[in-house]
Amino acid sequence: MHSFTKEEQRRAGEQNYTILCIDDESVNLKVLASIFKDHYNIVVCKSAKQGFQLALHESPDIILLDVLMPEENGFELMEKLKQHPKLTDIPVIFITGLQDAEDEEKGLMMGACDYIQKPFNHGIVRARVNTHLEIVRQRNLLQKFALFDSLTELPNRRKWQQDSVDYWLSSKNAQSPMVYGIIDVDHFKKYNDHYGHQQGDVVLRKIANIVRRTLFEFGGAIFRCGGEEFYFYFPASQQCDAESKLATCLKSVEQLAIPHHAISAISASSHVSISIGAIQVIPNEKNSVEQVMQQADERLYIVKNSTRNAVSYLNLNVDEQQISLDIS
Ligand SMILES: [Mg+2]
Repeated sequence: MHSFTKEEQRRAGEQNYTILCIDDESVNLKVLASIFKDHYNIVVCKSAKQGFQLALHESPDIILLDVLMPEENGFELMEKLKQHPKLTDIPVIFITGLQDAEDEEKGLMMGACDYIQKPFNHGIVRARVNTHLEIVRQRNLLQKFALFDSLTELPNRRKWQQDSVDYWLSSKNAQSPMVYGIIDVDHFKKYNDHYGHQQGDVVLRKIANIVRRTLFEFGGAIFRCGGEEFYFYFPASQQCDAESKLATCLKSVEQLAIPHHAISAISASSHVSISIGAIQVIPNEKNSVEQVMQQADERLYIVKNSTRNAVSYLNLNVDEQQISLDIS
């Protein structure tokens, strides 16, 4: 058996990749497993039907797919994979006894990333699979960068769009109350005008860091969704619990004691502060993340037009129409 080069081992070591091999002949599966089993997780099966189920459950990083199989063939399975939103991006390499150029063209046109003819050379299969896994690694890295804000290192709006909905659905299933809200840095434009954008960036990083830590302790998460605007959620058990947590966020920023002399004439404080609009809700069929965030935005607007450095909080699950908490 071939031994892996250092470079291959380095690549392999960065992630424990899973390869799904689908072939109706056991001998082929054995050979493929023997090539890769020491360095990757190998999952094998003998039919397209099983292969589809395994692809769903194992989330493989790459699929090696035979074409000629009884019942459903490899081309048919490929079509199904490409149509499924969770499976469409998994690279597929056809490994087949078909020698016809037309078949190869067909496979590649269907979206296969490669096409290898049997009998195959072990080294070539290994090299091609490694090349495609390297592309997978780079794509995963790009996706990660695409979901994070480089200034604050917080997840960004795109990540919010994914996570907030996932969180909403799991809270809906569990019928557990949660708090959704928006944080806005007070008089931030004035801060930038007075101290410069570079210093403004430092402030955003400090605030992101302290509020992230505070919310993380409460089992929540925060996202940078605009210039000085952050979205967040956390689980809530009772009303006073949520209120005190929001007050803690406010206090954590106050305690940074970042001077903001540009506002001394118009504000009681001469330090950087935040305002929060937040909604407590048990998700149901009638509401949605968008609606709740709209309401949180209305709450925030109330604070921004009064004292700032305060929380406006509404619990949709109690009769009271408005519970406002001013800390300033
Ligand atoms: Mg076959």
